Order: sequence, then C-alpha cells, then structure tokens
Amino acid sequence: MANSPLVSYTKLSPNHSGKRVCQISRITPHAVVGQLSVERICGCFAGKDRQASCNYAIGTDGRIGLCVDEQNRSRCSSSRDNDQRAVTIECASGLTEPYAMKPEVYSALIDLCADICRRNGKRKLVWIADRDKALIYEVKPDEMLLTVHRWFARKSCPGNWLFSKLGDFAQAVNSRLGV
Ligand SMILES: [Zn+2]
Repeated sequence: MANSPLVSYTKLSPNHSGKRVCQISRITPHAVVGQLSVERICGCFAGKDRQASCNYAIGTDGRIGLCVDEQNRSRCSSSRDNDQRAVTIECASGLTEPYAMKPEVYSALIDLCADICRRNGKRKLVWIADRDKALIYEVKPDEMLLTVHRWFARKSCPGNWLFSKLGDFAQAVNSRLGV
C-alpha cells in the first residue's frame, strides 16, 4: 500500500525494521519537542547514530514529511509491539510541558490520520484514555486505535496539550470519515 498523498517532503530514515509483521491497527502521535520544520524533524532521524525514526513528521507550518514507509516498522514508541502495529507521527511542539502544537500542526494531524484510516480500510478512530483498557481493547477490523508514547516509556509524550485533546481529536477525524 502506498504512503500518504499528503506528503510534500521525503527523507527516508535507515532506522526501521523492514516490513511490519502485524497489520496496521494503531496510530501514535508524538511531540518532537521543538517548533521544528519538517526538514529538521526528518533530518533528526537521517543518521544511524540515534536508531530512532517515525513514519511521518509534521513540521511547525503543518507540512507533512515521510521518514519511514508506512508499511515498514519505525522505531518511535519505545515498544516493539506498538511500533509493529502503529503508524507513528512526530509533530512539531513546544519545548516544555504541555508541548503545545500550532493550529497548523493540529489540523494537518487530523488530515493525515483521516487519510491513514481511509487508505487502510478503517472507518473509525478509537480513543480510550485509560492505558490498561486501551491495550486490551480488541480492535475491530474497520477500527484504528490511538495510542500514546507515555504508555510505553517514562515520558510525557505526546505532552499534556495533545493528550487532553485526544477525545476531540478522534471525533474530528471520525467526522472526516463520516462516522
Ligand atoms: Zn514520543
């Protein structure tokens, strides 16, 4: 399956694990910690030294970049299990809590998530704020589950700003999908 047509910049990272062994059933938005351009975000993952990557990046002006092909497993969420299933998206954000994102970034994230759902045959984006409930939730074939980095590592990512909005965010994506 192809990558998102919303991509306007591509710089592929060598830091991935090849083809996924699980079908895509999750999306994990991250805060990149800095109001960086899409070129800068993809540039962070271009070298092998960091061994980190993401599938997509959204720069501070809302432009979308491709870093790891959607069908490959990125190294983004401190969890093999999550990264095998999730399309990962690094978003330009503030430098400190709550890691706020610009309106352009937030709206590009809605567009990108709706597009990822559509192309992967998903009709609904599901947000369950409780980690334990979310991780045992049986995702239906036409559903996509939102997950967050803080569930897999001792960090705030994606920051309290986006985390507190994820209910509204899922609704906005679902209204695009006609739910
Ligand atoms: Zn993260």
